[in-house]
Amino acid sequence: MEEGSPGMASSTYRCWVEVSTGQIVANYTAIQALAGPGVDVMPVVKADAYRHGAAVVSLALEAAGARWLAVSNVEEGVGLRLAGVECPVMVMGGFFPCEREALATHRLTPLVHSMAQLRDYDRFAGERGAALPVHLDVDSGMGRLGTSESAEAVAEGIRGLRHARLDGLSTHLASSGDYTSTQTEEQIAKFAAVREALRAAGVEPKWLHLSSTVPVTHARREAWGNLVRPGLAVYGYPGLCQGEAPACEVAVKPALKWKTRVLEVKDLPVGHRVGYNALFCAQRPTRMAVIALGYADGLPHALSNRGRVIVAGEWAPVIGAVSMDLTAIDITGCPPVAPGGEVTVLGSEGGLRQDAEDLARAAGTISYAILCGIGRRVKHVYI
Ligand SMILES: *Cc1c(COP(=O)(O)O)cnc(C)c1O
Repeated sequence: MEEGSPGMASSTYRCWVEVSTGQIVANYTAIQALAGPGVDVMPVVKADAYRHGAAVVSLALEAAGARWLAVSNVEEGVGLRLAGVECPVMVMGGFFPCEREALATHRLTPLVHSMAQLRDYDRFAGERGAALPVHLDVDSGMGRLGTSESAEAVAEGIRGLRHARLDGLSTHLASSGDYTSTQTEEQIAKFAAVREALRAAGVEPKWLHLSSTVPVTHARREAWGNLVRPGLAVYGYPGLCQGEAPACEVAVKPALKWKTRVLEVKDLPVGHRVGYNALFCAQRPTRMAVIALGYADGLPHALSNRGRVIVAGEWAPVIGAVSMDLTAIDITGCPPVAPGGEVTVLGSEGGLRQDAEDLARAAGTISYAILCGIGRRVKHVYI
């Protein structure tokens, strides 16, 4: 299945990603098996499913049994409905009053981030004459969105609801991969205290959720509640940890390969300079290939003169500045390659492999930013 330019086969693409929906489903299934029957897995498909393609990925996950999906904003949620997604969809990243109508029309479940917003949504539900579902986000230490009001005030606010229906209580962990920090335990304890106070006040939301990728893959069960929100792990990355982390308990594999092609091959004499600001100057006779991607396609500019790609099963270092549409690489050590030949940016080829964590390390960024940064003009091929 392809989602490229009409009339163009992938064999003619300059730059594309190959996404295995089968691998994404296998990752989801493995995560759900680890979570067990008492915990639902809600795959996070925000940011175009970390650029794997939200519509195709969401439909595959729903067909594989996912009972929930999560996005960041209302527009993303509407997109899933228009693509035919039927399961509950949570909008996690906040919304504006002008977006309430679309939330209700498209049966999206918002995460509400303050008691004022909860009251306001309740009034809106009243005007609409509908028992609209919401989940409430508690700031247990992320210090960003989420209510910081006392448990008593939260309980009172929930008891005051007339129309909206509080189906869930959530929080977001700030340092879940950092096992040198005690912040996660503190946040879990704070969330438990709010939940206890609500119970004492007779309020027991059906769904409780705290965990993104790392507390799921590294089985921090006390942070699971009965719903977990992994994103990165669904795409095959178990998350990075610092300190004495327990072992990862689930085998997930990357589902996306990123490829481009050689546009031209040149033999450079010593002293030949390459690209903007002449960041590279050949110190020895160098065979160079110019490849058909640049920072407009999502290859970080920070990889200028650093980082590498795979050509004919060998590493080819980036030379000179990564430019908007083109990048130069040193293929002196690679088997012969002709214009049109494939280049692997992410994926494995021969015995070599580069994933988004590797590329992120070289660029001084994080795997999330590499994946989400894959540009709009990069074609998607589903395999
Ligand atoms: C993005 C996000 C997630 C998923 O995070 P991963 O680290 O990719 O698993 C979970 N919860 C919230 C609130 C998020 O914004």
